[in-house]
Amino acid sequence: MTSLLDAPTAIPPSPASSLRCRNCGAEFPLIAIHACAECFGPLEVAYDPAILGAVTREQIEAGPQNIWRYSALLPVGQDPATRVTLDPGFTPLIRADRLAAELGFTAPVWVKDDSANPTHSFKDRVVSVALTAARGLGFESVACASTGNLANSVAAHAARNGLQATVFIPSDLEPGKIVNSAIYGPRLVAVDGSYDDVNRLTSELQESDDFESTAFVNQNVRPYYAEGSKTLGYEVAEQLGWRLPPQVVIPIASGSLLTKVDKAFSELVKIGLVPESDWKVFGAQSAGCSPVATAFDNGHDVVQPVKPTGIAKSLNIGNPADGPYALDAVRRTGGAIASVTDDEIREGIALLARTTGVFAETAGGVTVAVLKKLVESGQIDRNAETVVLNTGEGLKTIDALSVSWTHRIDPSLKSAREAGLVS
Ligand SMILES: *Cc1c(COP(=O)(O)O)cnc(C)c1O
Ligand SMILES: [Zn+2]
Repeated sequence: MTSLLDAPTAIPPSPASSLRCRNCGAEFPLIAIHACAECFGPLEVAYDPAILGAVTREQIEAGPQNIWRYSALLPVGQDPATRVTLDPGFTPLIRADRLAAELGFTAPVWVKDDSANPTHSFKDRVVSVALTAARGLGFESVACASTGNLANSVAAHAARNGLQATVFIPSDLEPGKIVNSAIYGPRLVAVDGSYDDVNRLTSELQESDDFESTAFVNQNVRPYYAEGSKTLGYEVAEQLGWRLPPQVVIPIASGSLLTKVDKAFSELVKIGLVPESDWKVFGAQSAGCSPVATAFDNGHDVVQPVKPTGIAKSLNIGNPADGPYALDAVRRTGGAIASVTDDEIREGIALLARTTGVFAETAGGVTVAVLKKLVESGQIDRNAETVVLNTGEGLKTIDALSVSWTHRIDPSLKSAREAGLVS
């Protein structure tokens, strides 16, 4: 095991200044650790406020049409030659007027469609930042524990950049998620257990000599990984014309994405890139795995682990690492968290598809169904502009759906007539 003192710190100069414990505030150098040596709290990248404060809209707008336009607000990747990436991001922000009308909104509803990323989920953002950090820190190979999309993205990034990848997934994942990892040629390890079991196993493996020079994207380089999610928040603000949406609905697995979109909004206000305005963060879970929604309902700060079930497999983390921080962001901004059943998720997928032409995976169905539920309960305001995140692609989870043709006919006019298509 590498000790704290002899760990590599080869992160090139960047606006990042240290890793800071979110629990006790202790600071550490920019190395490959994710837990505080004092209190075991999670570490987060801290930035030099003077450097962040000097970033301008013009500087960002002159950048590439991908996440690296925000490199001045990220811990790594300022020098394009250092990036380990598929250049994800700058995905469409779609004005969803037909969805808004169906839900009774008087204000605009927008769908941020992150299925338009290279491996068809928002995970490309976090993986690009994690692997760029990993290479900067001197790692030779990469690994992850995944509910599916992370595995797809790590495998593809490793293929493009010639890194050895080992990805660990629960063996009962959707065929689409398995194929979308296997095709890139990683070592693909299917574990007969839940994601939480897989995650526990990879933390143990990380301690072994055989994995000493391996970066685990959501473990030893997790602080860098998590920062990649901020780019989703930055993009929403920039695409709205440099302002924050009053309401945003975000799916929760580990809770990292939700906390980082909130962090991105705070940073943009703090450094003056958007006018100061209030925003509310809403969290979406499935009924089969709703530990954060349950804690929200019960007024608890602690998230009780659960054993996940149900079709929203990419969100099936029973013991979410960032659950308490997600609760915090939702409560601080005056939002809410809700969960929806598998049938509601299928209806959410269909509702989004038939009103916007966007086909979401089950996680997107969760988010749209939670939007609908919170609008109906009055917790989301129909008169306030709202952004919904679609984080993944429907073609990866078709096995969760039972939809088919509306008519089946012989190739004859007679048959078309019998089916009622012509009179
Ligand atoms: C991983 C994932 C999420 C949630 O991510 P966390 O940051 O762990 O909360 C949401 N949607 C999809 C499709 C994902 O793959
Ligand atoms: Zn600490």
